[in-house]
Formats: sequence, structure tokens, C-alpha cells
Amino acid sequence: MSEKPEQGVPVKCRHCERIMSQPVVCDYCHAISPTATRADHFTLMGLPQRFDLDERELHRCFIALSRYAHPDFAQSESPEVQSLHLKVSANLNDAYRTLKDPASRAAYLLELLGGASSAEDKSVPEGFLGTTMMLQEELADAKSAGDRAVTGRLKKVLLTQHDGLMKRIASLFDEHGQAVVCEAVRKDLLAEIRKQINAVSYVAKLLSQLS
Ligand SMILES: [Zn+2]
Repeated sequence: MSEKPEQGVPVKCRHCERIMSQPVVCDYCHAISPTATRADHFTLMGLPQRFDLDERELHRCFIALSRYAHPDFAQSESPEVQSLHLKVSANLNDAYRTLKDPASRAAYLLELLGGASSAEDKSVPEGFLGTTMMLQEELADAKSAGDRAVTGRLKKVLLTQHDGLMKRIASLFDEHGQAVVCEAVRKDLLAEIRKQINAVSYVAKLLSQLS
């Protein structure tokens, strides 16, 4: 994960030297700042670090910023500025792809907030494995028998499960966002979010076998 820009240190525009309100693009002349390369995906998009974001707003920010960061915008500039534009354009694509999909946005935000990665913590919610193993067996049987009625029903069950897990993740992030939670509660919430995200990836994997 990229290093965060220093908090509270005002960033001066490399072009017009005015103070910028964020570390990505100058508010006045729209020059891309070198500090943009160190911004996390949310900061890069000019959005708050939260799970619940408006996907249309994300798209609008992506389009606007991609225009300023486009390499064509830097054709007459120095090689350093040209490579800055290339790098920031690539980072914007990466950020958009990650934040657009709720499951990958959740995983990214969790690690940004200090939660464990899927490699560090593979646990799932209690009872999840038992139920899912049964579904997995039923699915394998139905697939080998070519039973479309059963695979169709199982797909519905998995989609409902996926939906339920994503709603739970949204409400846990919401709870985490309440400033009142103490550090111990905050850590518990992050651990619980990790479990739910692990479960969602599991269900998504099963669903991908059905498409
Ligand atoms: Zn400027």
C-alpha cells in the first residue's frame, strides 16, 4: 500500500504555487501534484475514506480527474511531469477499479483502517463453513447431473447470502465510522469485517462457478 501524504502539511501547486486544498490536483490551474502518487485511493479520488460511497459520484470524480491527469495534457511539459501524468493516470484506473466494486472496496478500506489482510486472517463467521460446505456439495452434485432447476435455486440462495453479507459489512463499517467507539471496540469491528469479507469472497467464488 502506498505511503500516505503527511497529514496537515499544506501542499503548494508545482505550477502556480498556490496552496492546494488536497494533495492531488491544483484547485486553480488543475496541475497534477507529485504528492498525488502517494495518495490512497480515496484521497486520490477526492472522496472520504468510507465504505458507503455514491458510485455515480465516484464515476464523475474519476472522469474529471482522468482528464486532468491525461498524458496528452503534459505533452509540452518536462519528462518528469509527463511520467507523473502516466503514473497518476494508472493510479486513477487502479483506484476506480478497486473502489467501484463493493467487495474490493471493503477489502481495501479494511486494510487502510488497519485491519488484517485475507492472508493474515482467514477466519469466517461462526456457522458459515458448515452451511457453505453443504451448499458446495449440493452444487457439485447438481452440476454433474446437469440439473438446472437445482443449480438455479442454489444460485438464488448464494445471491441472497452474498447480499446479506454485503449489508452486514456496510453496517459494520458504519458502526466503525462512529467517532465514539474506543480502540478495543474498533479492533473487534475490524476483525468482524475481515470475517464477513472472507465469507463474501467464498460465496463469490461459488457463484462464479455458476456463471
Ligand atoms: Zn496551480
